Amino acid sequence: MKIYNTLTKRKDEFYPQSVGKVTMYVCGPTVYNLIHIGNARPMIVFDAFRRFLEYKGLEVIYVSNFTDVDDKIIKKAQEEGVDSSVISERYIEECKKDMASLNIKPATVHPKATEEIPEMLNMIDTLVLKNHAYVGEDGTVYFRARSFKEYGKLSHKNLDELEGGNRSLLISGEDQKEDPLDFVLWKPKKEGEPSWHSFYCEGRPGWHIECSAMSRKYLGETIDIHAGGEDLIFPHHENEIAQSECVNDCNFARYWMHNAFLNIDNKKMSKSAGNFFTVRDILRRYEPMVLRFFMLSAHYRSPLNFSDELMEAAKNSLDRIRTCAKKLENAMKMSDGDKLARQEYKIMDGMKEFRMRFEEAMSDDNNTADAISVIFELVKYINVNMIEVTTKEGFRQMYDELILLNNILGIIIVEKPEVLDSDIEKLIEERQQARKDKNFARADEIRDELLKKGIVLEDTREGVTWKRA
Ligand code: AMP
Ligand code: ZN
Repeated sequence: MKIYNTLTKRKDEFYPQSVGKVTMYVCGPTVYNLIHIGNARPMIVFDAFRRFLEYKGLEVIYVSNFTDVDDKIIKKAQEEGVDSSVISERYIEECKKDMASLNIKPATVHPKATEEIPEMLNMIDTLVLKNHAYVGEDGTVYFRARSFKEYGKLSHKNLDELEGGNRSLLISGEDQKEDPLDFVLWKPKKEGEPSWHSFYCEGRPGWHIECSAMSRKYLGETIDIHAGGEDLIFPHHENEIAQSECVNDCNFARYWMHNAFLNIDNKKMSKSAGNFFTVRDILRRYEPMVLRFFMLSAHYRSPLNFSDELMEAAKNSLDRIRTCAKKLENAMKMSDGDKLARQEYKIMDGMKEFRMRFEEAMSDDNNTADAISVIFELVKYINVNMIEVTTKEGFRQMYDELILLNNILGIIIVEKPEVLDSDIEKLIEERQQARKDKNFARADEIRDELLKKGIVLEDTREGVTWKRA
């Protein structure tokens, strides 16, 4: 499997540091408003990648933070006359709702910055002790960028280029920095702001140290994949590397994945520019899976321009897949036969090619665009060959294959058919009879059949009980 690594500027062969387990950190949103569809892009594309890794049998420990202390949150809280935690909690909840609508799996851990302050201060103390950081007169703690020899390695810029953009701060004399490249690790509180006690001053953390601390706490000193939007490469991720590597004396992240922007009229969608649609805005007009499909229809490293035409195209494409699935569902209902008919073997065999090509696309740097094209070829194959299929088993195999590929991308949600209690009872009775008759094969078959419907049987001394999985 290959991943385009921003650090090496090439597609690198991916292998996790521990066999069978991948650690992944994706920078999450600052929660002061509903998320816009630009914020949803990294959530969706990296969720699809996570699902693919899981499908390949890897355990993925996925951490995605909420930045819940920030100037914008504080400003909004002051406008509303409430505590800033009221704002952040509100938008964390709303964000989670949007994620659920878009079929984004919850992270293994969703840490909140405000709950991880001790870990941040711990790292800051180490940086000061090691002389990588210094304390200004008012208690602000700065990272000494030039003390990290590799500063600039992620953004591939030399220090003078990077310094250019920051020089104005020093000239204006507003700053106590030794060098324009230095950045804040801890800053003193201002009136009405949330703050925490520290050795340096009563204050709050800088943004970059949050992610260094949270990824270290939940994923360890070296993580496999660190991801986020490409606007985070500099300064956020560059600074995360500097902080983490200076504290831990080891490599911070082995692969860096960055998604390109979601644009509108070819300009980056952003809250500050005001050219944004929230996920909620879009979900009033389209169902969530259309938005998810739209996001995955482009490669994650290509800019994607939002437009109604593309959303309509996404809707039509998704409909084509669903129509095919529906046809197969109906055919399954109308047919019998739990063994393939002779002519069906070849058709099922021909279907294997699509799975292989789908995997090839996803293994080539998360190419969801090509993976979707393969799904369409599978749809076409099914539509053409369905005429020759007669057995329930044949239709089922086609259906399962189609759903499996869509599930890896998370673009079809299969509703579990609701099973009636009376149906279950009947099957349980039949199974008990089968066991009495020593027909254990049938008894096992019924158990499996129920399991597929989400019903787990338990044989107890008192008899058989069941529960929904
Ligand atoms: P923010 O709340 O601005 O820190 O952003 C949260 C995540 O959304 C980060 O990974 C950003 O890089 C990403 N992001 C923000 N705007 C866009 C956009 N227009 N297109 C793609 N990703 C974006
Ligand atoms: Zn981050």
